[in-house]
Amino acid sequence: MSSRVLITGGASGIGFGLARRFAERGDRVALCDSDPAAVARAAEALPGAIARQADVTDEAQMAAFLAEVEEAWGGVDVVCANAGTGGPAGRIEDLDYADWQACLDVNLGGAFLTCRWAARMMRAQGSGLILITSSTSGQWGHPYRSPYAAAKWGLVGLTKTLAMELGPVGVRVNAICPGAVEGDRMDRVVAMEAKASGRDEAEVREQYVRGVSMRTWVTVDDLADTALFLASPAASKMSGQIIAIDGHTETNAP
Ligand code: NAD
Repeated sequence: MSSRVLITGGASGIGFGLARRFAERGDRVALCDSDPAAVARAAEALPGAIARQADVTDEAQMAAFLAEVEEAWGGVDVVCANAGTGGPAGRIEDLDYADWQACLDVNLGGAFLTCRWAARMMRAQGSGLILITSSTSGQWGHPYRSPYAAAKWGLVGLTKTLAMELGPVGVRVNAICPGAVEGDRMDRVVAMEAKASGRDEAEVREQYVRGVSMRTWVTVDDLADTALFLASPAASKMSGQIIAIDGHTETNAP
């Protein structure tokens, strides 16, 4: 049966990968993203989708996007609170408070606004799945990325709590924790961490592999496979779970 799937930060990277895979199996997809060029590309690639420019930290923009989806669909089956930014890199004594706040705002505040709407819709339906994108940085410390790690641990708390609030009405809430994902974003992160820690990029890249038991990065499709499973009847009793897709992280330490 076709599902109605909403994804934030859905115009590129992991979010777009999820949107593409849900659309390919015949689901209805709505995505928002703050990057207008990426939204235009996504709209072209996924002609049947609702693709809108909306910043997850902007309550008015999100209200307009979510109201449009509610009007179009009357309900929603899967909500992926996925939008996130890597935040600043550096030792905490060198970080600006404004950068800390901006990182928490996108990763945590954006998830709050998205989940608040999803909870209201799904409670009324008595069904649904909220899937939050945390990170292995939400399970481990992450040197030089303290705002990001704090935000991603915060999402674990949000997942556990919403699973308790919504479980009694049949709504499931889970988090996925990607390891290092092949793609543009990790290229940017590696460059930033290399600069912040005085190492070269090859060394930082090698550190991400060395800290993982399976000595691997992951792909967007690895994450989409898990999302599709969680959205399937096979996962109908899975809630409150924090699921790493990472080849088993042993450490994020340099
Ligand atoms: P990405 O940068 O490739 O894509 C993120 C998308 O979100 C972009 O299209 C961007 O424009 C959008 N976005 C950013 N800020 C936004 C905002 N305020 N409002 C709406 N959209 C916004 O990154 P990605 O790797 O696809 O990351 C997706 C999620 O996965 C994030 O929450 C990220 O923290 C998490 N994650 C990524 C990795 C990785 O290795 N790439 C690892 C662990 C967790």
